[in-house]
Amino acid sequence: MTVVPPAELYRLHQLITWEYPPPTSAALEGLACTWCGTATDESALGMSPLDPCRICLTCYAGQLAWLATWYDWHSHVLGCAHCQHGRTCHVSRGRRTLHELTVEAAHRELICFSCHQPLGDTEPALPVLWMGDSRDYPGYVDAPCLTKEPAAR
Ligand SMILES: [Zn+2]
Ligand SMILES: [Zn+2]
Ligand SMILES: [Zn+2]
Repeated sequence: MTVVPPAELYRLHQLITWEYPPPTSAALEGLACTWCGTATDESALGMSPLDPCRICLTCYAGQLAWLATWYDWHSHVLGCAHCQHGRTCHVSRGRRTLHELTVEAAHRELICFSCHQPLGDTEPALPVLWMGDSRDYPGYVDAPCLTKEPAAR
């Protein structure tokens, strides 16, 4: 697994506690993990002092791996001329493959931000930050949408 320095871990922790699925009533009481719905025990982590929602260690590790590999992939794409010009890039492919391995445990899906279709296995796709109201969300755009919206990056 990727080795993450402490400052980066802190940043990823902020991201994990910022974004999670709409909580069930049990999750709102801190009785169930917001991601998987499993009953929480004392090992579950709190989101923030003001937020009753909690996340189990398994899901926390899943989110951490998902985010860390996403940012690895994203930082490569930003600095790579091949990727920026839509050319085949083996480094990007490798980082995407590593990231894809984390998707299931993170309870997420590889879905295009723009058309909401699942990313094709062999199709090129890029990690993009979607500008939200209060923060940016890590996600993906597939090849057909990339060519339609070159400004999305
Ligand atoms: Zn969980
Ligand atoms: Zn590249
Ligand atoms: Zn698309």
